[in-house]
Amino acid sequence: MNANITKRNELLAQKLIQGLKSRNMTGYYAATREEALAQALALIPEGSSVTMGGAMSAHEIGLVDALKKGNYHFIDRDAIADKRAAMLAAYDADFFLTSANAMTSDGEMVNIDGNANRVSAIAQGPKKVLVIVGMNKICGDLDSAMKRARNVAAPINAQRFGLNTPCSKTGACMNCKSPDTICCQFLITRYSRHADRIHVILVNDSLGF
Ligand code: SF4
Repeated sequence: MNANITKRNELLAQKLIQGLKSRNMTGYYAATREEALAQALALIPEGSSVTMGGAMSAHEIGLVDALKKGNYHFIDRDAIADKRAAMLAAYDADFFLTSANAMTSDGEMVNIDGNANRVSAIAQGPKKVLVIVGMNKICGDLDSAMKRARNVAAPINAQRFGLNTPCSKTGACMNCKSPDTICCQFLITRYSRHADRIHVILVNDSLGF
């Protein structure tokens, strides 16, 4: 990572951490993917039940592999045939791993979901939520964050899952009501009612999309 970009990210992360604190959430800054992995593992005690939703960033820092190999009860929803059972198990987990489609520099998180399993688990259920966010997802304000979620994250996800949506073909949001739309639910996490529940690791890297 370029030294000037790193300096900018470090300064921006300090502002974000203060913003998260004002919203009853806890933020951490990791200068590298390796630091992010170490921070995540420091937060998750061995023996914890852990599940995830839409967490490409957790894969990219090596967290999912580490949890699968380590002394954790990793609930792999892809390996569970009964998807409803997998979804319900997530709500009772000790930790839910996820990312954000976008974040404001003041600590608000924006997430879009089709099935809503991810946004509902962020909102309530799992005892703790661990969010891994690359600094590429930080936006100046809520309007920019919503635009990023709609015009960057959602179209890429629609393409990734092979969905028949306008954005899969154009690369930009057309505000569709297609049966395949992944923009069914929008969650803005503005404040956490419960202290010590939502932890956000800000990574000095480009993660996810
Ligand atoms: S509303 Fe439709 S076109 Fe817009 S990002 Fe969502 S799925 Fe794509």
